[in-house]
Formats: sequence, structure tokens, C-alpha cells
Amino acid sequence: MPFRRRQPCLGGGFPPPFAKRAGMTTTAAPASALLERLQAFMDSDVYPNERVYHEQLASAPTPWMQPPIMDELQAKARALGLWNLFLPEPEWGAGLTNREYAPLCEVMGRSEIAPEVFNCSAPDTGNMEVFARYGSDAHKERWLKALLNAEIRSGFSMTEPAVASSDATNISAEIVRDGGEYVINGRKWWTSGAGHPRCKVLIFMGRSNPNAPPHQQHTMAVVPIDAPGVKVLRTLSVFGYDHAPHGHAEILFENVRIPAEDILVGEGRGFEIAQGRLGPGRIHHCMRAIGLAERALESMVKRVRERTAFGKPLAEQGVIMQWIAECRIEIDSTRLLVYHAAEQLDAHGNKVARNELAMVKVAAANMACRVVDRAIQAFGARGVSPDENLAAMYAHARTLRLVDGPDEVHMRSIAKNELAKAKR
Ligand SMILES: Cc1cc2nc3c(=O)[nH]c(=O)nc-3n(C[C@H](O)[C@H](O)[C@H](O)COP(=O)(O)OP(=O)(O)OC[C@H]3O[C@@H](n4cnc5c(N)ncnc54)[C@H](O)[C@@H]3O)c2cc1C
Repeated sequence: MPFRRRQPCLGGGFPPPFAKRAGMTTTAAPASALLERLQAFMDSDVYPNERVYHEQLASAPTPWMQPPIMDELQAKARALGLWNLFLPEPEWGAGLTNREYAPLCEVMGRSEIAPEVFNCSAPDTGNMEVFARYGSDAHKERWLKALLNAEIRSGFSMTEPAVASSDATNISAEIVRDGGEYVINGRKWWTSGAGHPRCKVLIFMGRSNPNAPPHQQHTMAVVPIDAPGVKVLRTLSVFGYDHAPHGHAEILFENVRIPAEDILVGEGRGFEIAQGRLGPGRIHHCMRAIGLAERALESMVKRVRERTAFGKPLAEQGVIMQWIAECRIEIDSTRLLVYHAAEQLDAHGNKVARNELAMVKVAAANMACRVVDRAIQAFGARGVSPDENLAAMYAHARTLRLVDGPDEVHMRSIAKNELAKAKR
């Protein structure tokens, strides 16, 4: 069913992007042209095939397979130049700034399947950024190129069941040097994407230097998923959704040996890479959350105009009007916050923009939860049924309050920053 769309704001209600004011190269015209092409492709090919994607998964012998429609859509999107739009490095991707990418990413967030259609889905996007920025030439040749071509998928293995992983200094899987190799031992869970039959490589974070200062103890390693000793134990569902074919895997690493060259950058540099990876990754989640919320609101508005209770359309009941207004205010203000954070990220990098990134991470996830929750309520029982996508949207929005650091951790940083300002 085609959806009416609201035009995401390329110019924003804000002053011109910081990147421009700071004299950075931007590609505003191509970004707006890309946005138009992207929206047209969403209408012509993505929305109409969402159902086909799910039907193919449901009728396959196993849901852990690539539905053929995804390969078809990817080939079409790629031929139209709608491919790897997230990568700011022009040699690898579209060369857009984060601010330019934001409206495009929002549009992709409107559909569960869209980010993958354009090869812009997590966790591959973050992993590609890691390979592009921190990988060796051999990593780029073997893994980055295959990911850029969507020939393979990847996972990011950081979280561990045994420790509170929102404090990444707790991560305790071992990476130990042994001659020209490293030996890896540990148990990870929630490695998204690792259930996919095409997942071939994991970026693994473990402790290599237990005696170093806390933020220099950890190292990231590149581990082929078929390396001896890597065992995918199970995939974890989210509120009952298996998220096949990608899934979220619990993985045991038992005496896994990798060549010393497969350590990223060097021992003890894990936090540095994690910060580099999580900045853009977090903001992409936020951009997509806005698209998700827009679509939930559109469904809600359509429904309440069509349904009557107690003598008048639901759309004319005061409380429903209030919900609609609250949704609009929250979506639009979150979008402005996200654009602002993207501008800060473009102009000053991850470190300087960390407060803005923390704010949007909390704001966007919570906004999406509230908007979808109101939409569910306005739909009545249908809202939680499989006949609407709202339950799946809610499950996704709710996990955004946990992934890439739970709300409380980000709020802690925002508060610390505010307190430090007062002290200064
Ligand atoms: C769908 C999904 C996909 C995921 N994908 C990945 C992935 O691909 N790779 C990966 O490595 N991980 C992934 N994760 C894991 C996710 O990043 C972690 O769950 C998250 O970082 C929190 O870690 P934890 O679960 O160990 O919670 P814990 O660290 O045990 O924290 C539990 C709770 O304690 C509270 N808390 C923690 N710190 C503070 C504080 N300072 N102040 C107040 N309260 C606090 C918070 O409420 C927090 O939710 C995924 C998770 C989900 C649900």
C-alpha cells in the first residue's frame, strides 16, 4: 500500500549546516536529487514489496535465508546510484555529510526493509566505516569491498551476557598474543546480523591488556565467522520477533586463532575505534527512528479519519487530536535536534559532538516509542495484531532505548557535561 509522505526538510529550520559554514565540501544539490530519487524508488519498489519480502520469508523452508526480492531490489537500487549512501568517504560511498544524509536516512527508516535495499543497514554500515577508517589494505580488499557490494553481511560482537556491557570497560572476553597469532576466548550475545546465511565476518571486542588504564585494555579483532572455534549457539528473539534472516546471535569463541594482522590498528585501541564507530551509527538509528515515527503517525491519522465511535469520527475526539498534535511536535523537534547533532558531528567530529549525540540518542528512541504507542492505542486491538506493522515498530523502537548504550548511560553523560559547565 503506497504511503503519503511528508517531505523531510533538507534545509532544516536551522541556519545553514555547520559543515558549509566551516568551509567543508558539501554536496547539497546531489543530496536533494538523491532524496527525490530515493523517495520515488520507495514508492515504486520498496513499499509495494514489503509484503512480498515477508511472504517469501514465511514460505521458505527456513526464515534464515535471503528472500530473493531483496537481491532484486538491491540490484535496482544500485543501478540507480542509490547505494552506500551513508559513507562520507567519496571513494567508498556517496560522499554526503551526516547532515546531508539525515533526510535520506529518515526516508529509509520508514520501511523495515529499506535500509538493506540501499546497503545502508546496521550493523554493516558501522562495520564498513570501521574497515574504511581502521582496516588494513588487506581488510579493505577482503571484507570492505564485499560489504560495499552486499555480497556478504557482518556482525559486531561486543556485548557479553556475563557483564554489564553498557559499561564497556567491563568487557572481558580475552584476546591473547601467541607468536604471530592472537587467541580469542569469550561468550558474546546480541551480535545482530550473525544469523544471516551471508554473514561472513565479525568485528570482535575483547580485553588484551588487563594491566593498562581502563580505556586502553581493549582491542578489536577481525574474525571470520567460519574460523575454527566460533560457534553460533542460538539467535535471540526481541518481544518474540526473530528478526530473521539477520537475527541477534549468542556466540561462543573457543580458542579462536587469528593472524596478528587481523587486530584493528593495534592492541589497546578498541575504545578509540568503538567511539569512531558509534558516533555515526547512533545518529543513523535516530534518523531512521524519525522515519519510523512519521509512518506510524500517518497510519494513525488515516485510521482515525475512517473510524467512528460515540457518534463522531475518532479524528474529532479531543484526546485523539491531542495525541496527533503531540506526535507532530515531538517528531519535528527531534528532527531538528538530529540535524543539529549531525551538523556538529560534521563540523567537529565525534568527540566534540558527543553531548549532542547522546541527546539525540535518548530523544529519538523515546519519541519513537511514544509515537508508536499512541498509534497502537488509536488503532485499538488491531494496533497490536499482525494486520498492522505497529507492534513490530514498537518492538524496534523500544530496543533503541538499549542498543548502542541505554538511555541512562547517555543521560549520565549529558548531566555530567551540564554539571561540568556549571563548575567551569
Ligand atoms: C535488538 C538488540 C540488538 C543489539 N545488537 C547488538 C550488536 O549488534 N552488538 C553488540 O555488541 N550488542 C548489541 N546489543 C546489546 C546492547 O548494546 C546492550 O544490551 C546494551 O549496551 C546494554 O548492555 P546490557 O544489556 O549488558 O545492560 P547492562 O549493562 O546490564 O545494563 C542494564 C541496565 O542498567 C541501567 N544502567 C546501566 N548503566 C547505568 C548508569 N550509569 N546509570 C543508571 N542506570 C544504568 C540501564 O537501565 C541499563 O539498561 C543489542 C541489543 C538489542 C536489544
